[in-house]
Amino acid sequence: MNRRKRLAVLGSTGSIGRQTLETVDAYPDLFEVYLITANNQIDKLIEQAIKYQPEVVIIANEQYYTQLRDALAHLPIKTFAGADAIADAVTMSDIDVVVTAMVGYAGLQPTIQAIKAGKTIALANKETLVVAGELITQLAQEYRADIIPVDSEHSAIFQCLVGEAYNPIEKIILTASGGPFRMHTREQLQHVTRDDALRHPNWSMGNKITIDSATLMNKGFEMIEAKWLFGVEPSQIEIVVHPQSIVHSMVEFADGAVKAQLGTPDMKLPIRYALSYPQRLPSTDRKLSLIDYATLTFERPDMERFPLLQYAFDAIEQGGNMPCIMNAANEVAVAAFLDQRIGFCHIADTVLHTMQRVAFMTTPRYDDYVATNSEARLCASQYIESLK
Ligand code: MG
Repeated sequence: MNRRKRLAVLGSTGSIGRQTLETVDAYPDLFEVYLITANNQIDKLIEQAIKYQPEVVIIANEQYYTQLRDALAHLPIKTFAGADAIADAVTMSDIDVVVTAMVGYAGLQPTIQAIKAGKTIALANKETLVVAGELITQLAQEYRADIIPVDSEHSAIFQCLVGEAYNPIEKIILTASGGPFRMHTREQLQHVTRDDALRHPNWSMGNKITIDSATLMNKGFEMIEAKWLFGVEPSQIEIVVHPQSIVHSMVEFADGAVKAQLGTPDMKLPIRYALSYPQRLPSTDRKLSLIDYATLTFERPDMERFPLLQYAFDAIEQGGNMPCIMNAANEVAVAAFLDQRIGFCHIADTVLHTMQRVAFMTTPRYDDYVATNSEARLCASQYIESLK
């Protein structure tokens, strides 16, 4: 029996982070929590630290540091604050798997550090691959770091590829729920509210990804994520709207065979599989009963009503820093929409505007991504201001 796998859970207070800790609860003989980090949710982080007693706890927002340190002073736990502390901590030699469950661009720096330290990455932060997929995949090869997807669609594809090492992928069929506004007209989309957008029909997720799912930006991100994870061209990725979210994605091979992975819409399974791969762990979670669904349907996405999906194809086709520009603009626009400062359709307008204005670069290095991210965020913010 091997020793327990030691996990670093980045973004432990978010939806994926909490479910990762619940997975540790369910398999205490297999996993232990070594490092947890959060951005702002200090109370939740302290509560988790007391429960799991990890070696290290880090709060990204430095203004909460004293509160964290004082709350845990009676325990043998090291506490730190700031993004650089997170990027340093993931390289600690005792860590086996780094679960990247933080939101957005903030995932890039610690993911790079973890890869350079040769850690296995359970990748839940898709923005990292959207922003710098080329750099990340090169580094992962160079440092022999495994990247195991947590995203349900990519976990499905990954599972379909087990045993197919010598069979190239002909096509990936990436399924999308279509989100809460699948049937809305353009006119109706102009008037949807924050609360409407946060009501996802199938999946319970954090706020940012729920908005990205409603705009289909999330599916655009996932197309880019699939390109880098599985080494395919965007033209080999077909997006299919499947409102029941039972078929989590599919792979077509040269002989015409299509493999799919099915399951209930529950992130627990892909999280568990990423942590236990190549083993499958027994689970008492609710199993899929196809009879309960009766019909599974599939349709084409409408890129006119949901232009962000088209912009993602445009961005990856241009390559360079364009996906980074798109991601930064989207982060700013989604935050503004969640604050009720802009309307739903302004999210796509902001992204398009920013993609047309920020300087394009064909072969960015790490520092260029950092600069592009700042420049694009500024450009998007100014555009949002101009809408008032
Ligand atoms: Mg997904």
